[in-house]
Amino acid sequence: MLFADVADVFDRLEVTSSRLEMTSILSEFFKTLEPGSLRDIVYLSQGKLHPDFYPQELGMADKLVLRAVASISGTTGKAMDEVWKREGDPGKIAEVLIKKRAGQMSLFSEPLTLDRVLKNLALIENAEGRDSQDRKMKYFSQILRDSDPVEARYLCRIVTGRMRVGAGSMTILDALSEAFGTKGDRPDIERAFNITCDLGLVAETLASGGVDRIREMKVTVNNPIKVMLAERLPSIPMILDRMGGKCAMEFKYDGIRVQAHIDKGSVKLYSRRLEDMTSNFPDIAEELRKQCKAERAIIEGECVAVDPKTGGMLPFQNVTHRRKKHGMDKAVEEYPVKIFMFDILLAGDEDMTVFPFGERRSKLSEVFDLSDKVGLTAMEIIGTAEEGEAFFGRALGMKCEGILAKSLAPESVYRAGSRGFLWIKYKKDYEESLTDSFDLVVVGAFHGRGKRAGKYGALLMAAFDEESRKYCTVCKLGTGFDDAFLAELPDILDGYISEDRPHMVDAQMMPDVWFLPTIVLEVVAAEISLSPIHTAALGIVKEDAGLGLRFPRFTGRIRDDKGPEECTTVNEVLEMYEMQGRDCDPENSRASD
Ligand code: ATP
Repeated sequence: MLFADVADVFDRLEVTSSRLEMTSILSEFFKTLEPGSLRDIVYLSQGKLHPDFYPQELGMADKLVLRAVASISGTTGKAMDEVWKREGDPGKIAEVLIKKRAGQMSLFSEPLTLDRVLKNLALIENAEGRDSQDRKMKYFSQILRDSDPVEARYLCRIVTGRMRVGAGSMTILDALSEAFGTKGDRPDIERAFNITCDLGLVAETLASGGVDRIREMKVTVNNPIKVMLAERLPSIPMILDRMGGKCAMEFKYDGIRVQAHIDKGSVKLYSRRLEDMTSNFPDIAEELRKQCKAERAIIEGECVAVDPKTGGMLPFQNVTHRRKKHGMDKAVEEYPVKIFMFDILLAGDEDMTVFPFGERRSKLSEVFDLSDKVGLTAMEIIGTAEEGEAFFGRALGMKCEGILAKSLAPESVYRAGSRGFLWIKYKKDYEESLTDSFDLVVVGAFHGRGKRAGKYGALLMAAFDEESRKYCTVCKLGTGFDDAFLAELPDILDGYISEDRPHMVDAQMMPDVWFLPTIVLEVVAAEISLSPIHTAALGIVKEDAGLGLRFPRFTGRIRDDKGPEECTTVNEVLEMYEMQGRDCDPENSRASD
């Protein structure tokens, strides 16, 4: 297969903003592919060679890619610097410069097949150690040299991991069910993805074995599982009411969520973004290995920093020292951590995700011996508001953020990848402002004035609308930035500059610079109010008005544990808006799930 055919499909996807059209372009294409090639192309469409959790990445730096483009197109370093300043997308630069070079192409250039591209990309990915940059550059130049302008655009984007075609995992799943199943099969296909986090594997299994094989897929060690998430309600009586009068309540610890995959003595820890965090918590990995009595297990827990003298919990900032890439030995010594386990998803060979919460929790206690580094979350069965309030008070007394109520109903299975009312969180913050913090995506920036001249002065922030799969704006954020953060912002954001408004962004406000939705920041606000300019929940509460945040402030926490699609959703903003306007009477509880 020629790479030109793949690049042509990416190009058609990029110019369409309609998700339906994207789905149909992809599904028609998918039907023409062998299952193995389908798997590869699904990864490529995400700018990867492997699933998200695969430890190695292509990860070529923009500068290196531009050096290859300069040498092949015969552009001088200075001219290159100038276009790079104007254009944040190495793919676009390569396309323009290689178009200019057209006509001077070598008569001996080999056709660029998909196999050749994959082979060289694998070489790039595996290049390590001394000279690795030179070798990466050589393998990349070999394929870039034989590419036409559109192919060049996508080669550059694949190696830098920023595809800009707008076909996220949900669109790929839609296309797969259109190509190889029916609409009714979509939930099973999505579950297969949620329990494996491997889009390519799901695609190949579906194309080769049909929906029956997809239904047989089970959780497996070393295939991370998308995490289950909690809804929120504004009071304990409302939570109890929603849970049918009785539920389990647990402390909500403020640390780093970890999913541990334990297999006959080898342990891997994944973050909620599927990054391998084993090297950040080697002490926890080792302790879990020692304390686990089953051959195999997958558990989830929150890693919290503890005071080595008292064993008491320390604030979140302490555990962030374990997020660093370097100097981990020292951090392990200086910042002791304990994991509080709260769920088990695999025990031996048993897929625990299909069991109700109560059974999972009992299994968790059976499978592990506890120690000073491996514990269980504090949990109680609660049947009255008074018991719930007292438990909440104890959680705050232990420096926890609040509580998580968990359903004990027979249907309280582990819903991978979903936020629902089987888990409901209640935090101290709700008592004060009735809104939670928001994890919002940066979609634009405004140039600063006065003291902030020459820097970004404010950011345009968005929430994710799961229905339209667009990022809808909720506020302009200019408060809570210290000097260091302002200075750092261009480094954080400029790799994601977009020439125009990205078509997955829904905005009426015009920032000076647009960004591909990537970076997530934690924001607090005084209130959610109707807004004539913001597009979140536009027309839902009131015609011609959306919802916006009043007095938004950055908390200082970059949520690099969350991808853009994991940010606060428009639906959550809407729920919090309704929470604000209500007293805490269970009768008024919103009945949507
Ligand atoms: P937040 O920013 O409030 O932690 P979130 O979007 O990361 O929210 P939620 O599902 O809303 O996730 O809240 C649950 C989170 O709380 C989990 O992701 C986990 O990191 C943390 N947590 C702490 N204690 C528990 C517990 N006992 N059970 C489940 N999750 C817990």
